[in-house]
Amino acid sequence: MKLDIFTSLINLLIVYMVFAIAFAITARRHPNLDGPRHWLFACLALFTGYLGLGLRGVIPDILSIVVANSLTLTGGVFLWTGIRRFFGLRWHWSLFALFVLPGTVLLSLFMTVWPSIPARQIIMSVFSILISAFAIRDVLQQRSFALIMETNLFIGVVGTEIVMHFIRITTLMMVPVSTDSYLLGQNQPDKLFFIVLFMLSASRLLILVTLVSARLQNELNQLASLDPLTQLPNRRLLLQRLKHGINRERRSGKQMALLMLDLDRFKTVNDKLGHTAGDELLQQVAGRIQSRLREADTVARLGGDEFIVLLEDIAHPEDAARVAEEIVAALSRPFQLLRSNEADHEPGRDVQIGASIGISLYPQHADSAELLMEQADTAMYEAKQAGRGCYAYFSEELTIAVHKRINLEDRLRHAIEQQELRVFYQPQIDIASNRIIGAEALVRWQSPTEGLIAPIHFIPIAEETGLIIAIGEWVLRETCRQGQRWLADGFLPLTLAVNVSPQQFRRCDINALVAEVLAETGFPAGQLELEMTESGLMENQDNVVEVLNNLRNQGIRLAIDDFGTGYSSLAYLKRFPVDVLKIDKSFIDDIPHLQDDMEITATIIAMGHILGFKVLAEGVETQEQLDFLRNKGCDAYQGYFTSKPVPAADFTQLLQAQHEKMAAV
Ligand code: C2E
Ligand code: MG
Ligand code: MG
Repeated sequence: MKLDIFTSLINLLIVYMVFAIAFAITARRHPNLDGPRHWLFACLALFTGYLGLGLRGVIPDILSIVVANSLTLTGGVFLWTGIRRFFGLRWHWSLFALFVLPGTVLLSLFMTVWPSIPARQIIMSVFSILISAFAIRDVLQQRSFALIMETNLFIGVVGTEIVMHFIRITTLMMVPVSTDSYLLGQNQPDKLFFIVLFMLSASRLLILVTLVSARLQNELNQLASLDPLTQLPNRRLLLQRLKHGINRERRSGKQMALLMLDLDRFKTVNDKLGHTAGDELLQQVAGRIQSRLREADTVARLGGDEFIVLLEDIAHPEDAARVAEEIVAALSRPFQLLRSNEADHEPGRDVQIGASIGISLYPQHADSAELLMEQADTAMYEAKQAGRGCYAYFSEELTIAVHKRINLEDRLRHAIEQQELRVFYQPQIDIASNRIIGAEALVRWQSPTEGLIAPIHFIPIAEETGLIIAIGEWVLRETCRQGQRWLADGFLPLTLAVNVSPQQFRRCDINALVAEVLAETGFPAGQLELEMTESGLMENQDNVVEVLNNLRNQGIRLAIDDFGTGYSSLAYLKRFPVDVLKIDKSFIDDIPHLQDDMEITATIIAMGHILGFKVLAEGVETQEQLDFLRNKGCDAYQGYFTSKPVPAADFTQLLQAQHEKMAAV
């Protein structure tokens, strides 16, 4: 096959075109990667330059040489600048303006007037060698592990190009070449070089494409391991470092500590001042934590307001507590936020937050990264419960409790699916008439292995895990269905009270749920009462009045459960649209022995009546207690004195008995 230089050039042009398109696509998709854009310019310049060379003889000679050489040289420079950009080397444009650009122009002009073609080629080759050498130097400086294969290949190829140019120069100097038809002639001594150089250039570009993809991969990995807001390592990177640390400390026998940090009151800032302020606060928090740590320690953000600190190489377990104390102190100082809500035009605001910290230690508590994280997390909850702004170490007892909890959580999930939950009903008695006027629905867990489990053993866990939402919904539906059955059986209308957890307020649309259940079961809204605790209401203060009003508008009755144990603020009592106050059992227990409790109970009854509520006493077990309540004008009670909570069938019998008694009267 006749392979002349012209064919080679055309092939080279096609290859360059393809790569130019590939780079153009990459540069468009990843606009912040500068290298490919330069390579694109390089390709275009080289392409046009070679085209100019190829067109010699067709267009005027001088023009062809000036244009073609300038463009090929500019192409070379772009290739180099692309490499510098790609590796993030700082590029001084002044250098380009003062040196490279004028140099290229001068060189081109010089070459146009130079009489000998070989001499021009030599200058071109010298230039190529210079550019390639700079490129290799830069690539060598920036060798990164991830790119090692590609950079080695690149250096190899560019190195070969340099060698080829050297040989070419030598040949050009030794073998005389005619001055005309240089490119299209068949007998050029450097024809071979063109072919080899063509192949090398093609490989060089191929490698550049791989470099781009490797670099992109590197960037993506980087992105995947840093938290974009604070630029701190994320969970992934932390886990890597932790595992690495464990391996190292295992050999050296040293200790490490993991501090799990949760901000107190962060949610309030976020809700009140907006997310921009929240973000700024998180950035400042990250800065304050970092300033307390040594170079070797790692602080990571796990998301939300959770941070984690890894202290490597600590001498004593107490060192972790010292750092924890310092962090708590640092985060308790007010933060000044400059950016706040758009609606809020105040320039800067002081906010006060705090932090709770859970600490787990290696090797005392666990020897795997995942377990250490889990334990620090558990300890953090312990710290939160002990009061905010505290730290707590993980302990063995905690582990047992946690495992029990996890186990219980799994079983509870299963229990809901397997329909092992039951609703028991405790009668509510009208004190004046001594008649059952309603019942409180109380959930039970009928476990096939452990028998009947009281709510105290599973409701708190259901609340923590969110399972309470499914449980609450089921209890509501089951109670309304049962209530409707009693109505259909001809019993007098009863008020059925269902407990509502704060989670149900916060995380689901309780209004929609109630409306749906009532419509589905046909149970009258006026006979449904929802019980909420004071603390539950206070936790959801923001929209609670609105939700309560909507429920009230549906015709539902509302009761405050365990009254007297929570905030007991008169201000909120007036604000919340409730119907019933349920005096907590703890006040009833010591009647008639404790004067204080008797006074409190009497006061609650009087105050409730003044504010227009009905008052019901919980946990009535004795005649004396009932007499006292009657004496003080309490409206109703529930308690073991009449009946414990019982299954629906037993409750039906109670209703039946009452029905017969009334019929007999
Ligand atoms: P609560 O709503 O204050 O329910 C009253 C608790 O006092 C019930 O305990 C009841 O059995 C008990 N009790 C009533 N009278 C007496 C008495 O005379 N003596 C004694 N010693 N105890 C009495 P239970 O059924 O164990 O429920 C405990 C708590 O569990 C409930 O307190 C409520 O907060 C929660 N709970 C029960 N069922 C549900 C439910 O379906 N959803 C939600 N969110 N919580 C529930
Ligand atoms: Mg209750
Ligand atoms: Mg109660």
